[in-house]
Amino acid sequence: MFDGGEKCAVVGVFGVKSSAKLAYLGLYAMQHRGQEASGISVSNGEKISTIKGRGLVSMVYDDAMLEKLQGESAIGHNRYSTAGNDSILDAQPIFARYALGELAIAHNGNFPNAQAVRQRLIDKGAIFSSSMDTENLIHLIAQSHQVKLRQRILDALNQVDGAYSLVFLSRSKLFAARDPRGFRPLSIAKIGDGYMVASETCAFDLAGATFVRDIEPGEMVVFENGKEPESIRFAASEPKRCIFEHIYFARPDSMLFGESVYDVRKGLGRLLWQEKPVEADMVIPVPDSSIPHAIGVSQASGLPFELGIIRNHYVGRTFIEPLQKIRDLKVKKKLSPIRSLISGKRVVIVDDSIVRGTTSRKIVSLLKEYGAKEVHMRIASPAVLFPCFYGIDTPNKEELIANNLTVSEIADYLKADSLAFLSIDALKKAVHSHEDFCLSCFDGNYFHNL
Ligand code: AMP
Repeated sequence: MFDGGEKCAVVGVFGVKSSAKLAYLGLYAMQHRGQEASGISVSNGEKISTIKGRGLVSMVYDDAMLEKLQGESAIGHNRYSTAGNDSILDAQPIFARYALGELAIAHNGNFPNAQAVRQRLIDKGAIFSSSMDTENLIHLIAQSHQVKLRQRILDALNQVDGAYSLVFLSRSKLFAARDPRGFRPLSIAKIGDGYMVASETCAFDLAGATFVRDIEPGEMVVFENGKEPESIRFAASEPKRCIFEHIYFARPDSMLFGESVYDVRKGLGRLLWQEKPVEADMVIPVPDSSIPHAIGVSQASGLPFELGIIRNHYVGRTFIEPLQKIRDLKVKKKLSPIRSLISGKRVVIVDDSIVRGTTSRKIVSLLKEYGAKEVHMRIASPAVLFPCFYGIDTPNKEELIANNLTVSEIADYLKADSLAFLSIDALKKAVHSHEDFCLSCFDGNYFHNL
């Protein structure tokens, strides 16, 4: 599988002065969706300019740069890190000149069959400059025989299968499209006289935009000067939204697929407790991602919610070698239990998921080292048994701990006094219309041609 947009953020702004600054704010709010690289392309109606750089949004851009990016439409992207690729070549938006002019694209998602499409394009003479699935789209659009860009984009989308939330910027238009299964989110908001689209609604909150609606699976929206946004249904909608967005990936203050992420997470915690209670003194989250889930566990159990582990938000590399070897220095730099709180206590530690098991193992050992009498691990999602092909960065089957060990073997490996996962049935109960969700990382039901 080629590397695609993966677990990234996309944003688009149309018909507003300072569109680049609004795109910047959107990307800033969606930093959690990708920290490796960030980029913004702006059109001033005559030409498209792009800035891309490695690292966090706050490191990539400064005021002077954003001031130079003048124009009333923009798209932007945050890239999530995946091993082994040159992050600048693989940073987005991707820009190209082709028969109809200039085009920039930003992508969140993954095309599982990208390699076959790429080979077909290479056989026809295409030259690629990155390892991203997204580059396929540029070539498919450039080679299309359709006259108008919107038709060329639809032509290209019809030739790819997989997960995408995409924004396209031409000199005069913005296009935003979601794949027919709608794996990844993409919403529209109103801002001033213009519009904003973003992977997550938390981007609108920071930019001061007002949420209008989600783009539907199989829908492309065209933004053009002097016209209302035009909706094109290019494929029948067969929703398979990513459940992992709700479990872990999205920000808790976002509305995702029509539901509050925070509420869904608390619901997961409540259901987890109903299924797998245990005698204990307190509930603590693995900060920060599991805080809402742990609140749900606490509310359902009546056990006090405590911040038993404090997370250091300023972790970087340690340049000074410690005087003596400190066990688990890496995890201790990031997470530090409150000794006086947990010492001698039976704690329920809640995490949103277990993937390889590395995090949980270190956390259990840390809690024990700080004096916890019993450590009961509760996971607010089912065991991850299958890799994701649609843009969540889960590893190969062999690396997934639940694929190799039973629940009690995992508990032994973690050295936890007990371990329990949420059931798939309970997970389905935590969201509206569960049949519209993709649960492939838990049940192995995939939705593309394998
Ligand atoms: P692991 O240590 O491999 O079991 O990873 C599980 C931990 O990583 C949990 O604490 C999750 O909050 C977090 N997590 C889950 N999925 C992902 C992902 N796709 N990328 C990064 N972190 C994740």
